[in-house]
Amino acid sequence: MELLKEGEDFPFQTADAAQSDLDLDEVTLAAKNAFGIKYLFAWQRIVIANILDSALGLPEDTPLLQTDDSFGEDDVASLTAADDSILLQTDASVGEDDIALQTGAAVEEECTASQTTAATEEDNTAMQTTATEEGDTALQTNATAEKDATSLQTTATGEDDTALQTATTEEEESLFYCGRQIVLLPTGAGKSLCFLTPALLLKGPTLVIYPLLALMADQKRRMDSGGIESVIFRGGQSPQEREENFAKIKKGAKIIIANPEVLQNKSIVKELAACKIQHIAIDEAHCVSEWGDSFRPAYLTLGKIIEELDCKTVTAFTATASPQVLDRVSQVLFGGQSHIVRSDADRSNIRYNVIYAAAKKRLAFRLAVTEQKPLLIFCGTRAKSEDMARELALYMGCDKVKFYHAGLEKAEKTATEEWFFNKSDAVLCCTCAYGMGVDKKDIKTVIHLESPPTAESYLQESGRIARDGSIGKAILLWNYADHKKFSAYPKNSREYKMLLFAESSTCRRQVLLDALGAEQAVCSGCDVCERGGKAPFAYDLNLALSFITKNRKMYGYSQTQALLQSEFNKKDLALFGLRIWDQEDILTILSELSSRMLIKKCRWPWKGRLTCEKCTNKDETNTLPKKKERPVTEAHLKIRRSFMFNRRKLVNKIIGKKKA
Ligand SMILES: [Zn+2]
Repeated sequence: MELLKEGEDFPFQTADAAQSDLDLDEVTLAAKNAFGIKYLFAWQRIVIANILDSALGLPEDTPLLQTDDSFGEDDVASLTAADDSILLQTDASVGEDDIALQTGAAVEEECTASQTTAATEEDNTAMQTTATEEGDTALQTNATAEKDATSLQTTATGEDDTALQTATTEEEESLFYCGRQIVLLPTGAGKSLCFLTPALLLKGPTLVIYPLLALMADQKRRMDSGGIESVIFRGGQSPQEREENFAKIKKGAKIIIANPEVLQNKSIVKELAACKIQHIAIDEAHCVSEWGDSFRPAYLTLGKIIEELDCKTVTAFTATASPQVLDRVSQVLFGGQSHIVRSDADRSNIRYNVIYAAAKKRLAFRLAVTEQKPLLIFCGTRAKSEDMARELALYMGCDKVKFYHAGLEKAEKTATEEWFFNKSDAVLCCTCAYGMGVDKKDIKTVIHLESPPTAESYLQESGRIARDGSIGKAILLWNYADHKKFSAYPKNSREYKMLLFAESSTCRRQVLLDALGAEQAVCSGCDVCERGGKAPFAYDLNLALSFITKNRKMYGYSQTQALLQSEFNKKDLALFGLRIWDQEDILTILSELSSRMLIKKCRWPWKGRLTCEKCTNKDETNTLPKKKERPVTEAHLKIRRSFMFNRRKLVNKIIGKKKA
C-alpha cells in the first residue's frame, strides 16, 4: 500500500511483529488494519490518545472506581458492624462493591490532562521545502527541521486562563488541554499516522490543513490508494466541484484536505462548520511565525477559523523547535493555551520505580523528605495535593513546600510557579495541571501518589523531570486499591497497561514501552532490573502483619489499631521527630490486610480479636515473604498438648457453668 512509505511516513514500524491481535488495543488495531502497522511509536500513541480523549470525551463504560479513602472507610464501617464474630471483610465482593461506591472517576481524570515541561532544542538545521501554490498564492516554505528529538515531553505554552473559565470541573479541564496539542517532531517522522488513525475511529470528519498544494495532492493520492475516502478544497475549484465535496462529506468521507487560503472563503467555512468536524490537524504550523521565511498570512487566521468550526480537538504539527516559534503557534492557534508533545519516549536518564505501600500518603511523606529535590508529588485531586502539602509543610517548613492545581487564582499560580522555578530544595504537591507553562529543567524526582490513568499520561508526567540530562527518579506508589481499580479494565485497554507496568516482574521500562508501542530499549534503570526481581511486599503491611501474627488473638480491632499507630510512630519518630502516622493510615493498612484475606476476626471464644490468615490470594500483586520454618521439638509438642488440654478444660468449665 502506498500509504506506507518506509522511512518517510511510517519508518520502521512494520518490523517487530511479536504481539498477537488479542493484545492490541483499539488504536493499534485500527492502525494495523488500515495501514499494516504492527505498532505505534510511543509519542504517536500519546498524540492519538490525546486526540481521542478530547474528541470522544469520557467513555461511557469507564469503570466506576473508588478512591483509597472510600475503600478504607467502607471497610472500617463493615468491620465495626461485624458483630457475629466472623472475620473482617475478606472476600473479593467487597472490592466490587467498593468500585460501585464511586468517588473516584471524576477525580482521576485530572491525570489525563496532558502535560509539560519545556525543553530547548538545539541543533536546528534548516531545511528547505519549496513549492508553488497554484490556485492561491505562490509561496516559499522554509521549514526548520529539528534534528535531535531525544525526549518525549510536553511543554505548555501560555498561561492565559480566560478560555479555561468555561471548563468547570477538573475533568473538563483535563480534556480541554488534551485537545490542544502542538506536536514537535522531525520531518518524515510519521505524523500522518497521528491524524489518520484517529480519523478512522472518530465519527465525524477530520480536517487536515496543509500549506502546499503539492503536498495536498500527494496526500490525497495516497489516501485514495489506501482506501480512505477524502475530499480536497483548494483555490480555483468550481462551485460544482465543491458541491460534490460536501456531498461526499455528508456520505461519510473521513478526511477533508484544505489549505489556509481556501478557508478564507467564509461560505466554505460556514458549510464545513455544519459538517461537525471532530478533529483539525494543522501541518507545518510554524508558518504562523512572521520571523521565518515560511510566514503565511493566512495561517494567522486559523485561530479564528478553529473557533468558527467549533472544533475542540486541534493538533498542530511543527518541526521548528525554537521557543519563540512554539509560543507564537500556541498564541495564534490556541490563544496561548496548549501543550507540546515531543517525539521519542524513552528518556534514558529517568529511572522508573514502583513501590508498594498500603498507606501511600505516609510513604510519599517519607520519600519527599529523603529523595533528591526539587521534587514533584502528583496527587490525584486538588484536595489531596493541598492535604499533602499541608502535612509536609509541618515538617519541612512553609517555604519548602507548596501546592499547585488548576483551581488556584492566576496570580497564585504564577507566584507558585516562580517560587518553584527558583528553588533547588523544594517540594511541589500538584495535580497534572502543573507544568503547562513551566520549563523547570532540574527537577530530580517525581512521585505519583495516585497512578495516572494510562501509560501515555504516566510517560508524559514522569517526563517532566531531569530535562537537564541529569539522572531523574520516577516513583509510582501502588496499593491493593489500585490493583482492583486497574484490573477492572479490559485487558486490552490503555488503563490496563498501567497495571502491567506497576506489577511487572520484568524490566519496567520495557513494559512501559511495550504498552506504548514495541520499541526495544536497553534498560538504563528501573527497580526491577536493579533488584533482579519484582517489588517486595509492602513495608507497612509487612510490619502490621508481623505485629498481628506475633500478637494473634490478643487484641481487638481498635486496640490493634492504636497499638500499631504507636508502633509505627515509634519507628519514625527518630527519623522525623514527629508522630506522622495517624488513625487513617492505620485503618488503610488494616483494611487492605483484611481485604487481601491476610487477617481476620476470631470466632468465639476469642470473639472479635484479630489473627492472621494464610495468604490465599493467587492473583496477588506481590507475595508474602515466606515464614521461616522452625523445627518442632518435643518441648513445642508438650506446650501444645498442655495448651489443648487447658483449652478443653476451660471450655468444659464455661459449658458446665452455663448448664448449672
Ligand atoms: Zn529495567
